[in-house]
Amino acid sequence: MTSNLISDNMSKPIVSVVKYEKPLESVRKVVEQSKLFDDLPTDAKIFIKPNIVYWNRHSNFPKWGVLTTSRVIEDAVVLLNERGIKDITIGEGIVTEDPKDELTAADAFEKLGYDILKERYGVKVINTFRRPFDKLDMGLDFKVNFSSDAFAADYILDIPVLKTHAQAKASIAFKNLKGLISIASRKKFHSPDLVHDLNYNVAHLPNKLPPVLTIIDGIYTLERGPAIDGKAHRSNILVASRDVLSADLVGASLLGFVPSEIPHLALAAKERNRPGDLSDIELIGESIESLTSHHEWDFIYNDAGDLPLPFQKIGVEGLKYHKYDNSMCTYCSGLNGIILLAIKYSWKGKPYDKIEILTGKRMKPTEGNNKTILLGQCQCNLNKNDPCIKELIPIQGCPPARENVVNALKEAGIKVQNAFFKGLDSGVGFLMGKYKGKPEFEESFFQIK
Ligand code: SF4
Repeated sequence: MTSNLISDNMSKPIVSVVKYEKPLESVRKVVEQSKLFDDLPTDAKIFIKPNIVYWNRHSNFPKWGVLTTSRVIEDAVVLLNERGIKDITIGEGIVTEDPKDELTAADAFEKLGYDILKERYGVKVINTFRRPFDKLDMGLDFKVNFSSDAFAADYILDIPVLKTHAQAKASIAFKNLKGLISIASRKKFHSPDLVHDLNYNVAHLPNKLPPVLTIIDGIYTLERGPAIDGKAHRSNILVASRDVLSADLVGASLLGFVPSEIPHLALAAKERNRPGDLSDIELIGESIESLTSHHEWDFIYNDAGDLPLPFQKIGVEGLKYHKYDNSMCTYCSGLNGIILLAIKYSWKGKPYDKIEILTGKRMKPTEGNNKTILLGQCQCNLNKNDPCIKELIPIQGCPPARENVVNALKEAGIKVQNAFFKGLDSGVGFLMGKYKGKPEFEESFFQIK
């Protein structure tokens, strides 16, 4: 068995890089070259973690570079079956606005073809939010509620997408494991602490887990990820390794990063006394250079960091909307994206009345503003009594209710359209437009026939 902290026999970890060409054979090649499944016993319990970071039941949306393809999931299951391994579970915790929502995960599993995998190969498919969590000491400032099913497995087969992330820079195998923790733990991962922050917490994720085997699905890759508003590319890359850090260092390189610039990977390398580059990795297969392409990850703001550049370009005045930091977690991040879009479309050229909008768990009010909007309970708790604030407009709740967000913006004098906040899931279909007429973006990669 491998450990997630030390490579087998302290020999060089192997990472295989393959060009995706055809069903089954390409995944077979990357798995065989990396020896990924070589010593798995036939009675091994395998927990497969895809990345289903988003799903909605009401409208089609771009899955390319956002979700793990069903192609790679099925191929991995077939290869495990060929080795006589039958005890396979696929599990994911899809964040939904209503925590009681059972239908979204069921819909995702059905439409992604996982129900066919159940019938065809006897795999189990679980919504981790409906299953128990173990409280694990991962060496963090808090205990982590981690999926009991994944923790009880002999191996976790981590199958992330090769994509960028607006907060963590890259979201590959380390970051994909965060999808196995409870909502309460996810909120804690986005800590306000500047040292023990999101990067620190993510860097520790694999340490106490069963061995993590990794297949990175880069058939589609994503700029400005991790979500459906990013820009996908058909990249046809597969990466596999028995060493999760090595897989991610190679993945980050393929996205055009110097891997040591990804904070959680740099921290994880340091903890393992590893160089944090590719110098101690045995690379097999395609050359990194031949498949690397630069992927933008960041959303650009003005020099002061208090207004998105597109806002500055259209002349928005009287508004300070500071750049999000990594303490803002999923629900507020989702809302933040909608608010930015709604403000951009509501701008009519008349300067706002010196409004400041604060998000996350760290931002503090600045002087000289007439109105201060605090988004979410964390901001309200942190700043509601700050003497800097002239007129306070708090949006309480975790997550804050959408209608309260609309009302707060209107109260401040930002006349956003309710439509942006209502029925958002049914409205995301317009994002499909940018992939129209591009045959390389195939929906069939997310289906199982
Ligand atoms: S209020 Fe927002 S930032 Fe705070 S825990 Fe809730 S979702 Fe996260």
